[in-house]
Amino acid sequence: MQLTNRSVQVVNKKMTFMERIYLPAIFKGMATTLRHFFMRPATVRYPEVKREFAPVYRGWHVLKRDEQGRENCTACGLCAVACPAEAITMVAEERQKGEEHLYREEKYAATYEINMLRCIFCGLCEEACPKEAIFLTDRIVPADYARNGFIFGKDMLVEGTTPDKRVDVSVRQKHVQEKKWAAEGVKS
Ligand code: SF4
Ligand code: SF4
Repeated sequence: MQLTNRSVQVVNKKMTFMERIYLPAIFKGMATTLRHFFMRPATVRYPEVKREFAPVYRGWHVLKRDEQGRENCTACGLCAVACPAEAITMVAEERQKGEEHLYREEKYAATYEINMLRCIFCGLCEEACPKEAIFLTDRIVPADYARNGFIFGKDMLVEGTTPDKRVDVSVRQKHVQEKKWAAEGVKS
């Protein structure tokens, strides 16, 4: 069965004079190269120039805190179950007396790790979370030479407590919601 219309039948016919001197083919190739000089380049001079991302771009995750600075995550494990890449692992702990200012609920994630080499940034963890604890952001996961540097623990995921260390997800979330409504035909 023919899959494309690009197949070329090979024939063993004798080359013409013009084919034997190769010049037309060379000029044709040079014309293609020349044409590309005047075309808009498909690449940018990163890192000096940065591309503008889509407002719903899914990048480096954040584990959010509530207004009082307590971690939202209750280590229910739903994000890990939803993750198709099995990139999320966690260890749950009971909140102790006196730790109410650190964790919002009785259970929290003592360890929470995302393997960024496995992650496909699908956003299913964000959708599965019932506690508004995990969100994807517009931050790019930085490149590295060592594989073990891509296991992001709580130190890389949980946002800080001070205002300058908070990660604003509201803009992206607004776009995500609008996109969902548009797909469902709901007017915002
Ligand atoms: S974005 Fe997708 S692949 Fe990445 S951790 Fe979340 S659910 Fe897993
Ligand atoms: S991030 Fe959300 S879904 Fe994942 S363990 Fe924490 S509370 Fe549960």
